[in-house]
Amino acid sequence: MFDLPAQRAHLSEKFDLTPSPELAASMSDIYDRMSRVVTPADWAIYAPYVKAINDLKAERNAVILGHNYMTPEIYHGISDFVGDSLQLAIKATEVEAEVIVQCGVHFMAETSKILSPKKTVLMPDMEAGCSLAESITAEGIAEMRRRYPGAPVVSYVNTTAEVKAASDICCTSSNAAQIVAAMDSDTVIMTPDQYLAQNVARDVPQKNVVWWEGSCIVHEQYTAQDLREFREWNPGTRLIAHPECPPDVVAEADFSGSTSGIIKYVTDEQPEKAMLITECSMASNIADALPQVDFVGPCNMCPYMKKITLEKVLYALDTMTGQVEVDPDVAEKARLSVQRMIDLSRKLGI
Ligand code: SF4
Repeated sequence: MFDLPAQRAHLSEKFDLTPSPELAASMSDIYDRMSRVVTPADWAIYAPYVKAINDLKAERNAVILGHNYMTPEIYHGISDFVGDSLQLAIKATEVEAEVIVQCGVHFMAETSKILSPKKTVLMPDMEAGCSLAESITAEGIAEMRRRYPGAPVVSYVNTTAEVKAASDICCTSSNAAQIVAAMDSDTVIMTPDQYLAQNVARDVPQKNVVWWEGSCIVHEQYTAQDLREFREWNPGTRLIAHPECPPDVVAEADFSGSTSGIIKYVTDEQPEKAMLITECSMASNIADALPQVDFVGPCNMCPYMKKITLEKVLYALDTMTGQVEVDPDVAEKARLSVQRMIDLSRKLGI
């Protein structure tokens, strides 16, 4: 457990973190990227943290990888690279930095460590988990293999290193259908997201897709009825759903895609009004770059992602605590599953 009072005492001794409108004004180039969704008063609070973190990054030879679901002050203020979990893990292998601070959830930090074993990977809050990653263990994979002998196991990247190691290949929400279609077997096991699997099963009818019963606590909250009511209430809004949503929700939407697919769709299409049926921060993070799009609708937040704060990032980077380790044998097997996905995706031109 984190001892927040002790962390705060440590930080206030070392850094001047008093809210400062003057400092905030001097960092207006950063603020301009989030000015539509962050008030000037809040920016004055964040600016001292953003400055302290960005200074420390240079000292520690560190980079910050920020997931699309981070809050805007993290996404725009301190992240060197932003994207979905796989884009970030691949970026981790490409950067020269010795230290990677993962602003996302624990399985993402593990994936970075698996792909970059020599780098120090820091997780600002070890309790930032994921309902999907927590829904299955290696024993669950073994159980599915017993139920469907000979069927390959395709596991979503939202899994622990142990589960990746027990799988044949990984997938992301953007390549899942193509990976499943390319498996040399009529029956394919997908874990751990039942809804992603059901959405893939619809798109790849030539395969018998069977699944584990995991789900994302953010995306499973949406219902098709919510979307129909929203259309009535706010006609003309483009509804854009993540494939971790149940299939009837995806069917009701105008478009479905991974987080990076959603960003590309909204950027290309520039609808007048858009509702992103996914984690709340997605819309906030792209709002300033797309001023002509009116983002409307509900705001479902991932409680795990929201555990990552500027304060915790500063503490982790200053004290170099929260280092993520993966057993080398597990890491090697897990790396194979991830690498097979990367190689197959390249071969398929995805
Ligand atoms: S949004 Fe869903 S899939 Fe993503 S980290 Fe949160 S619980 Fe996991």
